[in-house]
Amino acid sequence: MTDAPTDARDYRDTVFLPNTAFPMRGDLPKKEPQILARWERMKLWQKLRAASVGRQKFILHDGPPYANGNLHIGHALNKILKDVVNRARQMAGYDALYIPGWDCHGLPIEWRIEEDYRKSGRDKEKVPVLDFRAECRAYAQHWMDVQAEEFRRLGVEGDFAARYATMDFSSEAAIADEIGKFLVNGALYRGLRPVMWSPVEKTALAEAEIEYHDHTSVTIWVRFPVVSAPRKELVGASVVIWTTTPWTMPGNRAIAAGPEFDYALVHVDGVDEKSLARVGEKLLVALHLLPQFLDVTGIAAHHVVHVFKGSDLAGAVCAHPLRGRGYEQDTPVLLADFVTTEAGTGFVHIAPGHGEDDFLLGRQHGLEIPETVADDGTFNTWVPLFAGVHVYKAGDPVCAALIEAGGLLARGKLVHSYPHSWRSKAPLIFRATPQWFIRMDGTEKIREKALAAIDATQFVPPAGQNRLRSMIAARPDWCISRQRAWGVPIAVFVDKATGETLRDPAIMARVVEAFASEGADAWYSSPPSRFLGADKNPDAYEQVMDIVDVWFESGSTHAFTLEARGLPWPADLYLEGSDQHRGWFHSSLLESVGTRGVAPFKAVLTHGFVLDESGRKMSKSVGNVTAPQEVIEKYGADILRLWVMASDTSEDLRIGPEILKQQAELYRRLRNTLRWVLGSLAGFSEAERVPPEEMPELERWVLHRLREIDALIRGATETYDWTGVYPALHVFCAADLSAFYFDVRKDSLYCDRPDNLRRRAARTVLDHLHLCLTIWLAPVLCFTAEEAWSARFGEDSSVHLQQFPTLPDAWRDPALAARWDRVRDIRRVITGALERTRAEGMIRASLQAKLVVYLDSSTQELLGTDDWAELAIVSDVAFAPGDAPENAFRLTEVPGVAVHVALADGKKCARCWRVLIEVGQHAAHPELCARCVDAVESGLVCRAA
Ligand SMILES: [Zn+2]
Repeated sequence: MTDAPTDARDYRDTVFLPNTAFPMRGDLPKKEPQILARWERMKLWQKLRAASVGRQKFILHDGPPYANGNLHIGHALNKILKDVVNRARQMAGYDALYIPGWDCHGLPIEWRIEEDYRKSGRDKEKVPVLDFRAECRAYAQHWMDVQAEEFRRLGVEGDFAARYATMDFSSEAAIADEIGKFLVNGALYRGLRPVMWSPVEKTALAEAEIEYHDHTSVTIWVRFPVVSAPRKELVGASVVIWTTTPWTMPGNRAIAAGPEFDYALVHVDGVDEKSLARVGEKLLVALHLLPQFLDVTGIAAHHVVHVFKGSDLAGAVCAHPLRGRGYEQDTPVLLADFVTTEAGTGFVHIAPGHGEDDFLLGRQHGLEIPETVADDGTFNTWVPLFAGVHVYKAGDPVCAALIEAGGLLARGKLVHSYPHSWRSKAPLIFRATPQWFIRMDGTEKIREKALAAIDATQFVPPAGQNRLRSMIAARPDWCISRQRAWGVPIAVFVDKATGETLRDPAIMARVVEAFASEGADAWYSSPPSRFLGADKNPDAYEQVMDIVDVWFESGSTHAFTLEARGLPWPADLYLEGSDQHRGWFHSSLLESVGTRGVAPFKAVLTHGFVLDESGRKMSKSVGNVTAPQEVIEKYGADILRLWVMASDTSEDLRIGPEILKQQAELYRRLRNTLRWVLGSLAGFSEAERVPPEEMPELERWVLHRLREIDALIRGATETYDWTGVYPALHVFCAADLSAFYFDVRKDSLYCDRPDNLRRRAARTVLDHLHLCLTIWLAPVLCFTAEEAWSARFGEDSSVHLQQFPTLPDAWRDPALAARWDRVRDIRRVITGALERTRAEGMIRASLQAKLVVYLDSSTQELLGTDDWAELAIVSDVAFAPGDAPENAFRLTEVPGVAVHVALADGKKCARCWRVLIEVGQHAAHPELCARCVDAVESGLVCRAA
């Protein structure tokens, strides 16, 4: 309205333009820390708790991040989603008590401290264990403080002062107590078992600590001479095995064959020059694999003497290929279902100490489980021929010994996917060691109870249920021991004479008491007698110095964070990335089921991972990492929060410079919506308020839409399924409000008299909009919503202390909504017609136009012509009967509607710009229309005065 003709009177001061101190620019990186400081000053968390007294508690139990570095984008996604869920529940009338926690013990921190030792040339073995543990503790404390600050900067609301940490003395005592429950109920046992072992870190690794990479292994084909067999023709022949781990040969105790496979007894008739096969010998291999076997062993001519079924081979006994060199034991041929004919010879060499299948088959047949490999990956001193050799370097010596003994048939190389330590990246081995286990299928029935607990849990998305179920159904006993120093000890004793574990609740109670006051250091600093008590001779017992798997620790957090503090148990919700099906969800479930019989959660929500813009994993070497700290510095935390909630978090999310720009644009539109609402509400007073039944249909339609979104938000608050909710709110702001409702109502809000019903109704709706939008946006745009709240209600108030507004059910009006869907369809045709006319140059502003709208008679009843003029923002509308002219504007997707645009008759009102015949008829205000004359004459609109 700045281009009013200069020769006319200036009516700009009589128009109500939006007026607000809420700025267009967010300037979030600067403003957000100020808002955080304000919350701190006003003690917002304490106020929230005080306001929640007596309400139903909502417990989202925090899965602890590991305290060893700055936050990455995955942490941000996880904590933002948690924060939205918590804030929404709080605003829906719950007491959402969120206690952030940290995982502090474990290998990564030990590894980090040891790295420092290596760099400075210190010998870890010479550092007293308590000093080492103190360094680990200080390291974890440092990163816990850093991460807490970073989480707060993201806007995460929670009881940071009462945060939990697995290394708190109280936690260490509680974890020991949980181990004690398994000790006393009998599920905890010590057994020799192959475990995934890292010779570099000298410890067993949990499945979650293992990653698979390509690895080149030496492969060997080896003869096992048959010494006795139920079928005579087998004696004197050799069973040929193939293995990718030559170092497991000293641990061989059997050979497995598939009962259904065909095995060929092959007579060698001719060999290539370099072949290790011998003319005249008889070899047994799977028929299916014979062609490639002949190729790799250089057997040039052969004939098949006989074909046996695998089941015919049971009962055969072979000699170890190194018999006569210290390997005198028999090697029986056993039948097993896990044998395949995908590669090798169809015979699997069985070393019960070096594989899960091997172990189980060995146990089934009572085989010995030799401990051939020491913790550093070298062969034990008693191992013939190879004592002291490292298993990684055993390929050559084993081959040499086999050649000398006449056992080796061929040697090759294979690149295959092989387990590695996620920390040291070193290849792992299966190694038989004494470890502590929690039995899955004993009298405690942990597996059975865990499966039942999964069935009783709500999973969001539902696919998580089967995923966890299949993992629990197939898993072996839980190996909870680690041969490390930074953790909670498995504080138990073993009777040296009997090998029996002491299962004495009184000893356990003394341990827990000591840990509670001095921390788990007490296990290392106290004499065993302190725990054993006066009636036991300390010399008769072995004090176990293993520590417990950190997954057991985090699996116990429910006990010391919820139960011990008197909070509701089980938790309402566990919320983590989908990898935690095999991590935290898994261990928490087993821990809780094993000690309490049920799951520690009622619901489990999983989210995806964060990828770069083209869907690749983020990596420093590729240079596609988006760090949350950088996003906050450039755009602000609200942009990151908006990105999370604009995404489908059940899938993998993408982020990068372009996506962040889009989010910033999305944010700008939401902010403009809030700004326009605030500006148009300037000076709103209760006296203006209009009840819904007196409002125009357009206002009642907005109320109906509010009621719809209210249902959407309340639904997601209960189900945790937020996918699509904030995008719907964004569409409401952009399409329904900014591009339609605000556009239409500008005229009334700017130009009508303040006591005009239409204007009062619009301002009443804007008041509802301000309340609803700021409160609904508060869980996501926690900073911006606060800013938009205090722009109206001052800085002593906080949007976060508000409840979701209770919108009257009477606002719902589906019939009206259906009619307005039709109205907006027709309006699209009108808008299209006006755009075409503007492009042709006939008009500049839509108010210069008058329309002839061709509608059938029933559609004409939707709205009157004056209403259409208002909605179309034109100066005049007429309906026309009959067929529209050829050149009228139509849209194929809106049939039965055509629009003809012409220039409006009359003159332009200098105040409202409508073009009307009546302009010029008033003596005192010849430049105004009748409505504007009335407004100006009323004396209610002149703000300049
Ligand atoms: Zn006017």
